Amino acid sequence: MREERNQERLSRKEAAANTWRAVKIWRKAAPELFLSMVVGSAVSRLAPYVPLYFTAQLINEIAGGRDPQRVWALLVALLGASAASGLLAQGAMRWSNVITDVKAGNVFDKIVLEKLLSMDYCHIDDPSTGELLNRIKHDRYWSAWGLDKVYFSLRYMLQHIFTILGAAALSVSLFLLPVPGGRSLVWLNHPACSLGMVVLLVLTVLLSSLLFNKGTSYWARYDGAKGNREFGFFYFAAHVERFRGADIRTYEQDAFIREKVLRLGQLGDFAPKSEIGRDARGEMGLYIAASEAVSRAFTGVIYLYVGLKALGGAFGIGSVTQYVGALAGLASGVSGLLKELGGLRENAEYLRTTYQFLDISNSMYQGSLTTEKRNDRKYEIEFRDVSFQYPGTDVWALRSLNVKFQVGGRLAVVGENGSGKTTFIKLLCRLYDPTEGTILLNGIDIRKYRYDDYLALFSVVFQDFRLLAQPLGQNVAASEKYDRQRAEDCLEKAGFGPQLRNLPEGLDTCLYREFEDNGVEISGGEAQKIALARVLYRDAPFIVLDEPTAALDPEAEAEIYTKFDEIVTDKTAIYISHRLSSCRFCDEIAVFESGRVVQQGTHDNLLAQEGKYSSLWTAQAQYYQKKGEEDGEEF
Ligand code: ADP
Repeated sequence: MREERNQERLSRKEAAANTWRAVKIWRKAAPELFLSMVVGSAVSRLAPYVPLYFTAQLINEIAGGRDPQRVWALLVALLGASAASGLLAQGAMRWSNVITDVKAGNVFDKIVLEKLLSMDYCHIDDPSTGELLNRIKHDRYWSAWGLDKVYFSLRYMLQHIFTILGAAALSVSLFLLPVPGGRSLVWLNHPACSLGMVVLLVLTVLLSSLLFNKGTSYWARYDGAKGNREFGFFYFAAHVERFRGADIRTYEQDAFIREKVLRLGQLGDFAPKSEIGRDARGEMGLYIAASEAVSRAFTGVIYLYVGLKALGGAFGIGSVTQYVGALAGLASGVSGLLKELGGLRENAEYLRTTYQFLDISNSMYQGSLTTEKRNDRKYEIEFRDVSFQYPGTDVWALRSLNVKFQVGGRLAVVGENGSGKTTFIKLLCRLYDPTEGTILLNGIDIRKYRYDDYLALFSVVFQDFRLLAQPLGQNVAASEKYDRQRAEDCLEKAGFGPQLRNLPEGLDTCLYREFEDNGVEISGGEAQKIALARVLYRDAPFIVLDEPTAALDPEAEAEIYTKFDEIVTDKTAIYISHRLSSCRFCDEIAVFESGRVVQQGTHDNLLAQEGKYSSLWTAQAQYYQKKGEEDGEEF
């Protein structure tokens, strides 16, 4: 609910500032929208008054002078003006709509995308960022609240303003033309009468808009988020998620899902028993109905006033249509304007969430030093007394870490789950900065290097890496344009050669079937190999593999190990695994436990010592030995 989310309602000034900021965002994102908005609104809203004017003149002539020549001339003028203004109005509106559809439709997504792409990683990793984004998207889809609302409201407001201007121009003479002297209705000429009508117009419009805004303000109280999410979850459960589909069948969950969907539908946001349904029958419905009743009653008064003046002889019968049309336009224009203003006031509360997201600030220090592009690949990395807590937690994920390694070496990082291995890699790759201590590259704090320069030193396969539903070659190169020979070589080295030769379109074969019917579904092991090829293509001095063989079957794992030297060549490999047998070939092994490095050395050294490594080794050796005996292999 909004009340829970935005503790205090904004003041009018703050609301106006929020809206103004959104206007500036729109102006910056798509300045051409504003021109189309003004021209489209002006032409489309002023055009209907042209036939209205000529119709009035024509009827006046028919009811009055009846000069055939004038009647014909007015008829032709009416037809010509109607056709021309209609065409112009439709053309202008269409142009404005097309620009709006093309430009305005993706402004929100572009702004969000840019923000997400430029955000410090720690914010992306922070679940509250995701929650904020979900909230903003939900508000947008639920009732178009947020940035979009500001654009569309501005557009409608401009349309209302032009409606008002046209109507005012056509209705001024209503108040100025007097009932000729000596008639019984001459009292209509009294200034109080005209003034009374204007005051009545203003009061009606104000009252009707007030009632309408009061009624629609109920909308802002509803939070369809949970209901929508739950309904969507159960409704789509049967056909979106493959695994859930399998669960449904094996656990016979179909009756359960049907029942849930039925119940959620009955209790849904718009169902009679829902909060919205209750309010629509109650106060909300009454306010909106009262608003409509007030403006209808006013239309009656307009008819009376205009009719009486015509009866008194102030103007011809034809002008009655003109004045009634113009005054009705005036009233609807002003109340439309006020309703939009009311909507913007509500919307300012929702913009708060948008700005919370857009204002997430990047706090990582961005240095200016360039990393040396050394041909000898002599880089040395040192963690000096590094400690780290994830934002929002008070647990040390790493504590007083001291590790040093050089390019060319193979460093294995081992330890049980949760001991800090992945966190160590995240810090090394500067996805996070240490809470305490320093990480040094060739003796210099890594924060002093240019961020992209520093990141270019690493090629990483994260445990939860993702490949894109795009052509294989583009996945390997992480780019649309790439060196095909190099991509093929890298895939070959990573052990994907045989599969590559079997793919119908080679490097151009699309992975997965999300976008291409003839895309290929790949196994976890194949995905690992492609991810390895991506590492090789990047050719960075550091290769980091986080549990690289977790998804591989033993055969594929053995294949990777035998190719490991070929893959790594003269680079530094940092290799995370909790399968110790796969770390034996590393020059150095760092053993992590509860965020600390408790042992460091070669496999033989560590095995000779009493400690974590030897106990882990013995435990795993027993498992693998047993497995090896079963499989008839040595571990
Ligand atoms: P490992 O890779 O050895 O399994 P991790 O580095 O993933 O261990 O985790 C180390 C500790 O940090 C664990 O206690 C884990 O729960 C915590 N942790 C990991 N990622 C996050 C995160 N994004 N936010 C908060 N805590 C985290």
